[in-house]
Amino acid sequence: MMMPELFSNTPDAEKTGELLAWLRDYASRHVNSFLIDRRCTIPPHIVLDLGNKGVLGMQVPEEWGGRLALSHAGSCQVLRQLAGIDLALTAFVGVNNHLGTRPLLRFGSAEQKQRYLPQLASGRILAAFAQTEPAAGANPLAMTSVARACPDGDFILSGEKWWSGLAAWAGVITVIARHQDSQGVNRGYIALAIDKEQPGMRQGEEAPTMGMRGMVQNKIHFDQARIPRAAVLGSPYAGLAIGNDTMGAGRLAIAAACSGAIWRTLQLMVQYGGKRRIASGLLYQNQHTQYVIHNTWMAAIALDMLVEHIALHLDQEQALPSEVFAAAKLLASELLWTAVDAAGQLLGGRGYCDNNPLSQLARDARVTRIFEGPSETLSVFLGQSLWQGGHPMLSHLGRLAGGNALCGGLAELQTTLKQRYPDDVRLEEVSARHLLLLGQALAWATLGGIVHDGDAALRGWWQERWDELHRQIFQDKPVLLPEAAALEHMIASRIGRVEQGAAGEEVLPNLLHC
Ligand SMILES: Cc1cc2nc3c(=O)[nH]c(=O)nc-3n(C[C@H](O)[C@H](O)[C@H](O)COP(=O)(O)OP(=O)(O)OC[C@H]3O[C@@H](n4cnc5c(N)ncnc54)[C@H](O)[C@@H]3O)c2cc1C
Repeated sequence: MMMPELFSNTPDAEKTGELLAWLRDYASRHVNSFLIDRRCTIPPHIVLDLGNKGVLGMQVPEEWGGRLALSHAGSCQVLRQLAGIDLALTAFVGVNNHLGTRPLLRFGSAEQKQRYLPQLASGRILAAFAQTEPAAGANPLAMTSVARACPDGDFILSGEKWWSGLAAWAGVITVIARHQDSQGVNRGYIALAIDKEQPGMRQGEEAPTMGMRGMVQNKIHFDQARIPRAAVLGSPYAGLAIGNDTMGAGRLAIAAACSGAIWRTLQLMVQYGGKRRIASGLLYQNQHTQYVIHNTWMAAIALDMLVEHIALHLDQEQALPSEVFAAAKLLASELLWTAVDAAGQLLGGRGYCDNNPLSQLARDARVTRIFEGPSETLSVFLGQSLWQGGHPMLSHLGRLAGGNALCGGLAELQTTLKQRYPDDVRLEEVSARHLLLLGQALAWATLGGIVHDGDAALRGWWQERWDELHRQIFQDKPVLLPEAAALEHMIASRIGRVEQGAAGEEVLPNLLHC
């Protein structure tokens, strides 16, 4: 098995290589993931050092104060390297660059750029992105935050945002909200670059999370906040497009990060397996272990190739359909979770101990399947796209090696599922389960086109998964659940309705506040 040579001919390969070497050296001397997790924060020296190096605004051009001005290929490699070091640190850097800085970089006015980019590029301030709301998570269109236009061009913003990464630490936050005109009529969505000193904005409660504890995720409250007209990003009706562009960049960033985390997981498996003796001899030599490690290794290589493919397209300014980003994030996060689970098993009790890097990595990795679009939402989105004809995703796939055969395979799957519906079925009537399976097939077909030129081991790994997906689709049978209340009742009949009422930690009375 050969390791494919990746990212070798990019224009900033030398600069990126130096930065990766710096990150490895820096991490070996200054980063302690255990403390990041336990203290629930990225230590100040790391924030300052990454800021001084330019990593916190790594794609900001020099004219706006960027110190690195990296290509997409360079930025993806940095995220992969960081994830090999610490996933929470990667989320910190990724959110700041791709969710926080990117909307300003792409859609900001000259004034907004002048005001924020030099500070972001040097790490003097941080940036966040706020779209999610209590009722609008996987479905952002359900958002209720409203920016109502005033006659003088300002907007009055009311609403609440949830789980905004870095928000409490940020100097500027891109907020997506409904746009209403002065009569209260909906005019689509708006994106606003809101300064941290904005009157009427209040940073809310932090979410205590399972992993990514070095990062902050918190609520933001807007109480009739008068947002100046100068804060509008791009057109005042482009909020959704700006949100989608930002999410696309975020999805590529997550895919790059997941690839680094898979390599790290693989490293832990090989290190342990290479030293641990079990009944059959060395754990690494066991044939089942070899199968598990092989699968993880192939996943890491395949994902690297997918990320490289996307990054190089972007660097050559070739447009890619949004489905490609969704597919990359979907596959990457699912492959990472499979790898982490496999490693947890391979490392035995040590993998379950909290003083082992894998346990923290597993907690950090879990959210990659949820944020920036849960796997199911992305799969259904891809499935809907394919059901409706699949353009331009299929034309992209058709241009990949072996693309025609892959398109043919997808058509076969689609026919299998469509046979179960009348010809005039509407998209809303198609089972989410069918759309989800079709979407997964589209994502795996894309990966198939990427690994087509890889060696036999890599293609064999892909084929095994492709065949399994076919089997699932051909054999899929609908299930029918009772009403949720009825099922809840049945469950309670087995284990009761346990709401623990024992007293917890003491909450101090209010006398200590003014
Ligand atoms: C650590 C962390 C950081 C975050 N950072 C940010 C941030 O910086 N900015 C921001 O705006 N948001 C952020 N989020 C929010 C995140 O994007 C949302 O959690 C995510 O979009 C899912 O929304 P939800 O949690 O409300 O899930 P819900 O909408 O309640 O969905 C629950 C589950 O339903 C299933 N589901 C959803 N849709 C479908 C479907 N169509 N078909 C089948 N099943 C489906 C999925 O399994 C999904 O996980 C963050 C969240 C976390 C946990």
